[in-house]
Amino acid sequence: MPPLLQALQRRVEHAIRRHTARRMLVALKRATHRLPSTLHVPVRSRVLVIAPHTDDEVIPCGGTLLQHRQLGSQTRVVFATDSTAGLADADLARRLQRLRRDESEQVANAMQFESVVRLDLPDGRLVRYETTLEKQLVDQILSFQPDIIYCPFPGDGHADHQACALAVGDAAVQLDWKGRMHAYEVWTALWPNIMIDISEQAAEKEDLIRMYASQMADRDYAAGVLGLNRYRGLQHRVRYAEAFYACDAREFQALTNLLNQLAPSSHTAGEHTPQVNAPLSGRSEQAGRKARSAAPAGNTPHP
Ligand SMILES: [Zn+2]
Repeated sequence: MPPLLQALQRRVEHAIRRHTARRMLVALKRATHRLPSTLHVPVRSRVLVIAPHTDDEVIPCGGTLLQHRQLGSQTRVVFATDSTAGLADADLARRLQRLRRDESEQVANAMQFESVVRLDLPDGRLVRYETTLEKQLVDQILSFQPDIIYCPFPGDGHADHQACALAVGDAAVQLDWKGRMHAYEVWTALWPNIMIDISEQAAEKEDLIRMYASQMADRDYAAGVLGLNRYRGLQHRVRYAEAFYACDAREFQALTNLLNQLAPSSHTAGEHTPQVNAPLSGRSEQAGRKARSAAPAGNTPHP
């Protein structure tokens, strides 16, 4: 392509990128302006947690799920991937999968989850399985009939987390599901409209995260997320809080559609850095999904 055309293409892509990112921010601003962050108190409910990887059920929302345990809520956790960190060595991947499965069973027992479902889709390549994931999440919503779904925020900075958000948004709208989505934060701080005071659960949450010893050996996620929870708590003058973006299924899907207009990053994440699909070149929704699907998987870290 002639240099002039290349320069023109870059300018157009940059303009679309800015426009799309702006639309997402405007949508969030409107929603959070109408509903400024409030302290929310969970009530006994049927709770479905969509976790891309084992440990995503405790790091972003473990304190809240402990409150649900206390309330007698029935909680089902769906792990989307096999949590093998995209390891190429099949033997190593199997061993890691077994180890993380054991760790997550220990956590599930402590949390008294009613059920745990493992979809075992490929870790780090979920974006290529969004349609499969969507169908399986439709089945999960139909069979469990949740009142609340906890799932990753659409803009969370990890490709598997974004793929989960897209799939669950489509599944919920397809079913005309009337419950509440509570989107959580893992790799990217979101723009919250509700927070849950987890001061009384913070110590147990830390213990639960540390049950994932295989992950803690690499990085201290427990200390990291409790720092975030402490910071979130400042807004409401409580010691620790978990932050969420709460909305109905249609609003959630509208946010995921904005995300889906974004093409993949040209930046390939290193082995030990999150694979970020942050706002990049703009495309149509279908092209965006195709383009993200074609993005190199790389080794994704956890959570
Ligand atoms: Zn994760």
